[in-house]
Amino acid sequence: MRTKSFDELFDTLAKCNVCANPILIASSFGGSKEACKRCGWKQERDDFDYAESVRYPNLVSLDRAKLLYAKGRKLSPNFEEFLDAFRSYGEMEFWYRDKRYGLTKPRDKYEFFEVDAIPYQAFDTIDEFVESAHINGILVKDIWDKVEKPYWLT
Ligand SMILES: [Zn+2]
Repeated sequence: MRTKSFDELFDTLAKCNVCANPILIASSFGGSKEACKRCGWKQERDDFDYAESVRYPNLVSLDRAKLLYAKGRKLSPNFEEFLDAFRSYGEMEFWYRDKRYGLTKPRDKYEFFEVDAIPYQAFDTIDEFVESAHINGILVKDIWDKVEKPYWLT
């Protein structure tokens, strides 16, 4: 049997802030060591200070996560939450019809692209991205309920 590290000795169990399932909290940073096995929430020490905000590592706010969980739905971001996550993190991705798409802002433009393909669509503002970004002529905002695996760009 592996010997537990000093930190692991002081890890504690807490209730998930979304579903109350037991979740292992790391002593070193006060957040959960992995996503909640029941609902997928990744607990942070200061969850309740930012309950209305989308913050890494979760893609929905704590308040909305509770609502989604109560309805038996996955903690998946709506388009506005995806944009909030992008604003805080700077790089996002999602899948649509087996292709992976990314949104980044490497310099002064917002760039939307199919991963590993060229060209990309460039926008001056995030609002312009919302109003004009498309996949094969269909606006991203109009297909949001069909996209899969929205996530931080990896
Ligand atoms: Zn949970």
